Amino acid sequence: MAKLTMLGVGHSEAIAHWNNNALITANGRRLLIDAGYTIKFALRDQGLTLADIDSIFITHVHADHCFGLERFAYECRFRYGTRPRLLLPPGVYEELWEHTLKGVMGQVGEGPATLADYFEVERLAGGDFEFEGVQLSYFQNCHTPDKPSYGLMMNGHLLFSGDTRAIPDIVTRLQPRTILHDCTLSPWNPVHASLSELREQYTVEQCQRMWLMSYEDHWQDHEQAVAEVFAGFARQGQAFDL
Ligand SMILES: [Zn+2]
Repeated sequence: MAKLTMLGVGHSEAIAHWNNNALITANGRRLLIDAGYTIKFALRDQGLTLADIDSIFITHVHADHCFGLERFAYECRFRYGTRPRLLLPPGVYEELWEHTLKGVMGQVGEGPATLADYFEVERLAGGDFEFEGVQLSYFQNCHTPDKPSYGLMMNGHLLFSGDTRAIPDIVTRLQPRTILHDCTLSPWNPVHASLSELREQYTVEQCQRMWLMSYEDHWQDHEQAVAEVFAGFARQGQAFDL
């Protein structure tokens, strides 16, 4: 049985939880959804190391979603001798390599290096891809304006929103049975969905299928109110069947 495990559920400022990264496990192989700067700790908590990851999908280029790639690159190349697949949806490659990683990874002991020296880079197009029998579709969500940022639909029934504000049109069109949705506990945020925005933008029934993720440290202050409207706060280590 394929499953999605939340390796972390924290907002970028959170220290109570690791970065909001997830792991798909299918046929004994592992696809990471984002690799933030806490990824080694998050994998350790699941009894895993960087060497146990076969593929990595990056939803967008923010530190809590991609800074862990520097560790993957160096440790897989120089310690483990592995070269994970790196799956990049449209527009992410340029931000990731040219504007982010090249400064720390573009030069090594042997001389100049490219992203392909560390990873088997696959630049995705067309919206659909597959991992060990799990059907995945990526879609542009509503995060930082004019920045590539994606959510994922998994096996036609689980929607992982990525970092985003409310995306009711997409959720209504895709009709997921289970939703993992970004939320912030602040009253308003220009690039994340507040609790009131979620309640206003989604139907009661959609909220009931919705697990909240990417939240701040004081989540317990809202636990009761959230349980009355939503499925609840997704917890670190929680797994969902795919
Ligand atoms: Zn973000």
